[in-house]
Amino acid sequence: MITLADKLAEVNYRIAQAARRAGRDKGTVTLIGVTKTAGREAVAEAFRDGLRDFGENRVPDAEAKFNPPPYPEKAARLHLIGHLQTNKAKRAVALADLVHSVDSVRLARVLSRHAAELGKTLPVLLEINVAGEESKHGLSPAELPAILEEVVGLANLEWRGLMTVAPFFEDPARTRPVFAGLRELLERHNPGLPSWRDLSMGMTNDFEVAIEEGATLVRVGRAIFS
Ligand SMILES: *Cc1c(COP(=O)(O)O)cnc(C)c1O
Repeated sequence: MITLADKLAEVNYRIAQAARRAGRDKGTVTLIGVTKTAGREAVAEAFRDGLRDFGENRVPDAEAKFNPPPYPEKAARLHLIGHLQTNKAKRAVALADLVHSVDSVRLARVLSRHAAELGKTLPVLLEINVAGEESKHGLSPAELPAILEEVVGLANLEWRGLMTVAPFFEDPARTRPVFAGLRELLERHNPGLPSWRDLSMGMTNDFEVAIEEGATLVRVGRAIFS
């Protein structure tokens, strides 16, 4: 029987190999276990197996599984990676250690305001629709500079970088230009913040290619939890 620990070890091994191919230290890549299909039991087991970053798409699911978490409070980080509506922003701020999916000035303002109310600074990423897919959320690369300029001064957000969801291709090598594109955007539009260095890209199908192209955060669900 293949256990969760086996799957986690396999993914960590593949991360290390991809980092090595790219001449990177594997410690520069953080594995986020995406738990949208997993329950609290599986989260607890993954924590026991060493996973310290978890990702959820929806605020209600995140609350059900992580408030309180099935591991010691503050012993791991929770990432919100799905599209976020402004009416859930307050709950998102209360729960998340990093929000990957900021895709409008309005959402950024609301998040900053709620973070101020809670007396915290919320780390965030801007989501970019690099491939321009109709079905996907995220800013177009062309709108990035103007929007970044508008949000970068918001007092209670800490801008960490960019996130994208690549199109699904049978051959993961075809995602390479998308990941390289996100990295170029991160470099070209650096707002001069020391915190501006994260690239959230790569999922079960394509995380190795993403690491070769500079991913610092990979979001892996199926390879661990199914
Ligand atoms: C579900 C999801 C993932 C994980 O996808 P897998 O193919 O299960 O690895 C990563 N990022 C986002 C935004 C997701 O919705």
